[in-house]
Amino acid sequence: MAQALPGSSQVVVIGGGAVGCSVAYHLAHRGWTDVLLLERDQLTSGTTWHAAGLVGQLRATPNMTRLAQYGTELYRQLEEETGQPTGFLQRGSIMLATTEGRWDEIRRAHSTAKCFGLETELLDTDAILERWPLVNTEDVYGGIWLPKDGQINPADLTQALARGARNLGVTVREHTPVRGIRVRDGRVAGVETDAGTIDAEYVVNCAGMWGRQVGKLAGVDIPLHAAEHFYVVTENLPEPPGSLPVLRDPDHAIYIKEDAGKFLVGMFEPVAKPWGMGGIPDDSSFTQLPEDWDHLAPQLEAAVERVPAIGEAGIQLFFNGPESFTPDDRYLLGETPELPGFFVACGFNSVGVQSAGGAGRVLADWIVHGHPPMDLGDVDIRRMLPFQTNSNYLHDRTVEGLGLLYGMHWPYRQYDTARNVRRSPLHERLAALGAGFGEAAGWERPDFFGEPGTTPEYDYSFRRPGWFEHHAAEHRAAREDLVVFDQSAFAKFLVQGPDAEQALQGICSNNVNVAPGRAVYTLLLNERGGIESDVTITRLDDERFLVVSPATAQRRDYQWLRTHLPRDQRVVVTDVTSAETVLGLMGPRSRDFLQSLTGADLSDEACPFGHWVELELGYVRARALRMTYVGELGWELYLPTEQAVSAFDTLMARDDAPKPAGFHALHSLRTESAYRHWGHDITDEDNPLAAGLGFAVAKDKDFIGRAAVDAVREQPRSKRLVSLRLEDPEPLLYHDEPVLLGNEIIGRTTSGRYGHSVGAAVALAWIEHPDGHAIDKGFVEQDGFRVEVAGEPVNARLSLRPFYDPERKRVK
Ligand SMILES: Cc1cc2nc3c(=O)[nH]c(=O)nc-3n(C[C@H](O)[C@H](O)[C@H](O)COP(=O)(O)OP(=O)(O)OC[C@H]3O[C@@H](n4cnc5c(N)ncnc54)[C@H](O)[C@@H]3O)c2cc1C
Repeated sequence: MAQALPGSSQVVVIGGGAVGCSVAYHLAHRGWTDVLLLERDQLTSGTTWHAAGLVGQLRATPNMTRLAQYGTELYRQLEEETGQPTGFLQRGSIMLATTEGRWDEIRRAHSTAKCFGLETELLDTDAILERWPLVNTEDVYGGIWLPKDGQINPADLTQALARGARNLGVTVREHTPVRGIRVRDGRVAGVETDAGTIDAEYVVNCAGMWGRQVGKLAGVDIPLHAAEHFYVVTENLPEPPGSLPVLRDPDHAIYIKEDAGKFLVGMFEPVAKPWGMGGIPDDSSFTQLPEDWDHLAPQLEAAVERVPAIGEAGIQLFFNGPESFTPDDRYLLGETPELPGFFVACGFNSVGVQSAGGAGRVLADWIVHGHPPMDLGDVDIRRMLPFQTNSNYLHDRTVEGLGLLYGMHWPYRQYDTARNVRRSPLHERLAALGAGFGEAAGWERPDFFGEPGTTPEYDYSFRRPGWFEHHAAEHRAAREDLVVFDQSAFAKFLVQGPDAEQALQGICSNNVNVAPGRAVYTLLLNERGGIESDVTITRLDDERFLVVSPATAQRRDYQWLRTHLPRDQRVVVTDVTSAETVLGLMGPRSRDFLQSLTGADLSDEACPFGHWVELELGYVRARALRMTYVGELGWELYLPTEQAVSAFDTLMARDDAPKPAGFHALHSLRTESAYRHWGHDITDEDNPLAAGLGFAVAKDKDFIGRAAVDAVREQPRSKRLVSLRLEDPEPLLYHDEPVLLGNEIIGRTTSGRYGHSVGAAVALAWIEHPDGHAIDKGFVEQDGFRVEVAGEPVNARLSLRPFYDPERKRVK
């Protein structure tokens, strides 16, 4: 007879796959043993049982790579700890390049890996053949060797994690589906099962591809969609090839794993087959979907071509099982914004086995300590917006998302599917002017402009793409003349009420007690002094403040304001993103142009930097805020959404109309001018003083994070965010290129762009003094700095101030 369930548990984990078991295991290791894991059927009966078991390490960002590295360390010792074999083998992996673009990508990845402390080696074809004698290298440019990559038996890994958790006191119950989520006073309060209700302080949704449905039980959006996912296994090879590393051939969307004298060939086909459109069946366990040889014919042919022994052996098993994918191919982790206490770890995009260790660890830390232990912005569920749970959107994006995991990771690569979800009212006008659109948080934003009347091609390259000269012209026009940016995608929040000023003072690092008509750049800090967001706050009147933040931070910042503005004060926050359209009119001619168009006095006396005035643009009344993110004189025009087209037409009808400019120009301008970008240059683990943002931290008032900043104020700043410029005008920078002093890596770039005004690639970079001393002007201005770009060292200059207009004279 089944044992009775406890009536309460501090934590309930829903789902007994690799991820749920890892969360329970790590909670137990942190001393939280009042944990109940509920599995609908048997452990591993979801997606985990049939995973191919590849455990890779190199991810797109330092923290994600750190987590993958931790996973490997954990998996190596798990058998010893629990007595449960896991089949873990560390045979390494090789990734091949068969195109010039891929070879560029791999060489850049080789350099990036050094920033993350990950061992890699570039291989020529002879070296590839030495490690993988059966591979056809005819069309191969080269490859990258990752010696620490491994493979594991996913079901055994899950059992080992479950055993490790049980050994420390966690209760695991199979055949116990969660049917409902209880909510009390706006917080999660427990779960409902057929065997009764369980009260809980925390509930963790690790339900894999069922995660979206489990989210719905709690009224929480979990944007993921399942897709069919395939591999084949050959018959026994006539001659066992011996233990080989995993081989990835991403240009042909395949990977090959040697397994007990057979080959397993997995696919990431470019056009995937979404599955489970009507919801994932409740009784779907150890699911195997029908074979589809036609669908995979190109990948199977490529596999035989790459390793002819596969063709000779023949296929023994065609496997098709469902896995869940998210709209941006990154998993969903953390406390959900809708329901405090309800956490999520699902949507693992075909890397859930390798990610389970790291994700379980940081989620357990997050639950135990009440905040993420490091910057997890890449996977934090707060990056997702409600529209992304729309099933049509998810379905269409999944068709593309699966294949992109092996697609080219081009700089600025855009999705082709599920586009045009959010458009500014000026969209058609901008399209007619030749906009090449990119997507951010669902918004279509011009990234650059081709010729008016054309639809420019958004081509991709690690070198100079086709739109490079258009971008250069827009950048120069902003420096020398006048441009207009459509910045409507800004997230906007109205904070209002008699106590609005007092409430904001308590959460803003800068002093927002300014007169109506002023705007203030401020940080929102956490208790640890880390930067949760950087925003501009405009005081509209005594009781109303407009908080403006980046498009991608809309959910996160709204949530931060909602939870941190004191409940006992008379203040409310409303998301008003859709209410206003924003045009950035930037460049040295902006004042003359706006004055002659509107008749308004925009002199330094009438409208100094950081002030706004109301003006008339044709029939429209606009708020013109003197502010900039590009390092030039300029005004942001806030327009009622429904009047934006009218105002835009008035601007553009003039003979001296501004040149339209896109986000590539905006970012190259801001990087040259050293304006930080949240999520790239600064995150919730960065201290504002080290980030060069001390000017936005008031010393004469109290606010969240102040004590933590004060605690390090007098310490030598041995780590700092600095400006960087290459000496050679040719190479391009993106991000995560290692910065060297002599031969020692002392940091990495965070955002890199081409600085058309300084004539070379520029970047912001975090660097650390090799001896732990303070980084000062003398240190950064010495010779001997280099940046490694695609394996080649390039001389660089560093500076504590921007390379363009270091005194910021042009702005003020
Ligand atoms: C063909 C294929 C190959 C793959 N290869 C690899 C690989 O090589 N490397 C890699 O890292 N990843 C790989 N993956 C991906 C990997 O399998 C998944 O990312 C991973 O297993 C996800 O684990 P999970 O714990 O999130 O989900 P699951 O294993 O699906 O676990 C979720 C669990 O939740 C349970 N559940 C659902 N609803 C409820 C409820 N209401 N109450 C209680 N329990 C519930 C389910 O029964 C299930 O057991 C592959 C996937 C496929 C399909």
